[in-house]
Amino acid sequence: MKIALIAHDKKKEALITFVKDNIDTFINHGLYATGTTGKMLIEETGLGIHRFKSGPLGGDQEIGAMVANHEIDVIIFFRDPLTAQPHEPDVSALLRLSDVYDVPLATNEGTAGAVMHYINMKDRG
Ligand code: PGA
Repeated sequence: MKIALIAHDKKKEALITFVKDNIDTFINHGLYATGTTGKMLIEETGLGIHRFKSGPLGGDQEIGAMVANHEIDVIIFFRDPLTAQPHEPDVSALLRLSDVYDVPLATNEGTAGAVMHYINMKDRG
């Protein structure tokens, strides 16, 4: 599967911890991330991750383009609901596309944990 990973600044540590906790799953899949999220994940986990632009510079839209082309199977996007994001329209557009194309999207650790079960189940065939 192809998995997109994104986290707003105050959620990046939480995403790193989540990926480390589930590294046995992530290592078997194609990983894509926005720029800063991807840089931190690569440094902290050693996983191979394709990095797009930083979110505010268009990275969310690059991932959205992949979703529109059926090239992303799962999105894990840890959002910070308490801080205004300068690129909120792009964030909303990506969430919208996940609904247009029925791509599972986890916006917090609870849902992401459930999505991990889904991926592991698919992996087992
Ligand atoms: P970043 O972008 O990984 O480059 O910080 C994420 C976002 O803010 O959408």
